[in-house]
Amino acid sequence: MITRLSQLFVRTLREDPADAEVPSHRWLVRAGYIRRTAPGIYTWLPLGLRVLQKVERVVREEMDAMGAQEVRFPALLPREPYEATNRWREYGPSLFRLNDRKGADYLLGPTHEEMFTLLVKDLYSSYKDLPLSLYQIQTKYRDEARPRAGLLRGREFVMKDSYSFDVDDAGLAASYEAHRRAYIRIFDRLGLSYVIVKAMSGAMGGSASEEFLAVSATGEDTFVRSPGGYAANVEAVSITPPPAQDASGVPAAHTVNTPNTGTIVELVDIANAQFPRPDRAWTAADTLKNVVFKLVRPDGATELLVVGLPGDRDVDTKRLEAAIAPAEATPLTEDDFAANPGLVKGYIGPAAVADGAATSYLGAEGPLKVRYLTDPRVVPGTAWITGANIADTHAVDVVCGRDFTSDGVLDVAEIREGDPAPDGSGPLSLARGIEMGHIFQLGRKYAEALGLKVLDENGKLVTVTMGSYGVGVSRAVAAVAEATCDERGLAWPRTLAPFDVQVLATGKGEEILAAATELAEQLDARGVHVLLDDRKASPGVKFTDAEIMGVPTAVVVGRGLAEGLVEVRDRATGERAEVPLANAVDYLVAVAGR
Ligand code: ATP
Ligand code: MG
Repeated sequence: MITRLSQLFVRTLREDPADAEVPSHRWLVRAGYIRRTAPGIYTWLPLGLRVLQKVERVVREEMDAMGAQEVRFPALLPREPYEATNRWREYGPSLFRLNDRKGADYLLGPTHEEMFTLLVKDLYSSYKDLPLSLYQIQTKYRDEARPRAGLLRGREFVMKDSYSFDVDDAGLAASYEAHRRAYIRIFDRLGLSYVIVKAMSGAMGGSASEEFLAVSATGEDTFVRSPGGYAANVEAVSITPPPAQDASGVPAAHTVNTPNTGTIVELVDIANAQFPRPDRAWTAADTLKNVVFKLVRPDGATELLVVGLPGDRDVDTKRLEAAIAPAEATPLTEDDFAANPGLVKGYIGPAAVADGAATSYLGAEGPLKVRYLTDPRVVPGTAWITGANIADTHAVDVVCGRDFTSDGVLDVAEIREGDPAPDGSGPLSLARGIEMGHIFQLGRKYAEALGLKVLDENGKLVTVTMGSYGVGVSRAVAAVAEATCDERGLAWPRTLAPFDVQVLATGKGEEILAAATELAEQLDARGVHVLLDDRKASPGVKFTDAEIMGVPTAVVVGRGLAEGLVEVRDRATGERAEVPLANAVDYLVAVAGR
């Protein structure tokens, strides 16, 4: 069946939507693929829905091919399973919670580990039933703090999620590997340029975990790569700590008067002017900067946290968020400082000089217990200039392990271009990407919490080990659009395009529309999906709309018809070819790969 543009439910827009931050969003709205319903919530129009369904088909085919079986859960779910795993709480404000008429708690599923675990528990009981992989392509709900960029980060979005169930670790490793291979095929077929990087498992728990990131300057994720093949999301980089140092030659810690050192630069300048080092100049890397955060747990409880790190580095917010999830960190307000006079703003240190205790901050109010975590570079024997917890005073020659210890390591400093890869495989380079998929070995966390056990070969009850795997299906529509669009509009790859060929009848005259319609019908008969622009509109409007809509091939039936010619345009390359109308069908069938 050919689709006539005069009938299609679509309106292209000449103006950018006001909230469009990235090209894919702008063009998907302007080309009439999606319409915004509420922040982060979109309606799919016919053109957009065709693309979404094509992505779904690719995902479905590859999941089926790897032996996973499709099911579909409701999006509306009861509270109890999420209570059992503590995620009713841990998911925090991102979870859409609601009540039924009896007051019972429900949620809109953000991800379905609990439900799949319970379903398998419900029906299976023996090792003979495993391994098993189940998947669904389904709508997910997350009340994201920052919905943005149209489909890229929605509050309602389509995800493929799958879950593997195995009796032992070797089984889980095999299921994970099978998913990894299926994901490679999926993202290859979608035509995305992507990297596979080591990932954090976040709120899910578990161990081995990788992300598939579409390389894109507009992506929200930052990843690192080394020439030797190391690749990780910055969130997941754990730096290799330097060896402990010999501090036997370091003088005893002592305080110095340092008024007006609001910044590390000012502190370093004062240090070089007032107490220069004999061997070299002090640098920011010689200072130990202590940054205070207020941690807010999902249950609302708060706690202060001080992070000590070399002064030449900042805390990377995303690394911090990932490291402390599901808790959230906020910087301290003036009111918070006022409430904690023990924290002397600008002069916070590990209390080394004051009393030698790692975790107490001495102010007018006496010791204040605060959790103190340090960057992995702060190893025993390293000597620092740091705050003395006294106004206008810093401490010098403060040695880790001698003068202070921390309550643990927190690896959240920014990663910089040229930093060494943790595995010694060379200097890191940074780039941005869009997270398209995430695979991870969950292990037994959910099976344990929900009691999913099976009898093993020896008749003994064992807890099942699980994997969890996601693909952002609606996000993929935007990511492909983002990668392929240009300054004139969308430009779909053939695998995802809503139509193979757009036939444009340009110019007045019955015979032009008749020839265009006949061409469209012949193409349709050969299995080519055709959009026929039969509108009473000017050639200019039709050309512009075709470029915005991004169908890979346009055929112009117009002026050339008198000489028996049509013009074939390639949307992506801009190439044009004059083709005799008589050969046009064969030519286009070949181009469309039908
Ligand atoms: P992100 O870090 O981008 O928030 P996530 O770690 O929360 O992603 P998962 O819970 O692993 O993501 O979800 C699996 C996949 O679902 C992701 O890899 C991504 O492609 C997609 N996805 C997650 N959140 C959204 C969203 N808000 N909008 C669209 N797609 C999303
Ligand atoms: Mg998320």
